[in-house]
Amino acid sequence: MIKTLEQAIKQPLSWFLILMLLVCFSGTANAQLKVITTTQDIASLVQAVGKGLVEVESLTQGYQDTHFVQAKPSLMLKMNRADLLIYQGLELEVGWLPLLLQGARNADIQLGKHGNLDLSLAIDPIEVPQGKLDRSMGDVHAFGNPHYMLDPGNIKPIVYFIADHLSKLLPAQAAQIKSNRKQFINRFEPKLKEWKDQMAPFADTPVVTYHRTWSYFLRYFHLTHIGTVEPKPGIQPSPSHLSDLAQTMKEKNVHLILHAIYYQDKFSKLLAGKSGARVLTLPPSVGGVPEASDTIKLFDYLVNQITRALSSNE
Ligand SMILES: [Zn+2]
Repeated sequence: MIKTLEQAIKQPLSWFLILMLLVCFSGTANAQLKVITTTQDIASLVQAVGKGLVEVESLTQGYQDTHFVQAKPSLMLKMNRADLLIYQGLELEVGWLPLLLQGARNADIQLGKHGNLDLSLAIDPIEVPQGKLDRSMGDVHAFGNPHYMLDPGNIKPIVYFIADHLSKLLPAQAAQIKSNRKQFINRFEPKLKEWKDQMAPFADTPVVTYHRTWSYFLRYFHLTHIGTVEPKPGIQPSPSHLSDLAQTMKEKNVHLILHAIYYQDKFSKLLAGKSGARVLTLPPSVGGVPEASDTIKLFDYLVNQITRALSSNE
């Protein structure tokens, strides 16, 4: 009698277990929210916070220049199916995202809707231009420097901001989102200390960069920004600009030019030749090189490369 009862219980229990396993291993196949991001940097954090709940895809790859992207129909199609669009804002994507939004035919992700999230609202921008702007100033970012994902100090507020928004869209999953967020922060915080310790011996070291890609990164680690190879954003340097900068670099003992992988390195190399400094070409985004496959690995890679290059100059 008991035996048959046990068997009867066993049957639905095993079905229940199979169902549970299916839920656990189906992963993003059963995603409750389709998220599209403009960069792999954002996608990496959404993946961490929305683990098991969201399917996330980036419109660009980490080795692409996100200032200039072709507004292709294939990207519009991706946006057409999205529940949520997350972008960096501060005009980083101003040349292409409005076109994609127009072509996407998706009312849920338009400006002002819950499916439209401007991540720059989570941070305090730097290098906000003062006074009137005009075209003679180059492709200047009118609302401040949009390369804020390269500030390790910005990652925590960004993660909280993403988690809050996902919880609003998926209120029944708020507890899981909170637990995902906590897991990420617990991994990230010890790394912050590690990177600071690694960079500490190089505080106040002067460096030159090609574009203002690295401003947040340099500020966080207390490196001194002496100047940029491009005289204004998006404008190529003249021979006199390069000569003047090379002169300043010699006076201030600058040994390093930081160069993002997607810019042609002709002018950085020319400047290196004139000044005696070396060019260090680096990925400014997750996915820029295979080693930088997520946010933590990107900072690991950057800190390792920069500390190695600065050590060899001593
Ligand atoms: Zn820029």
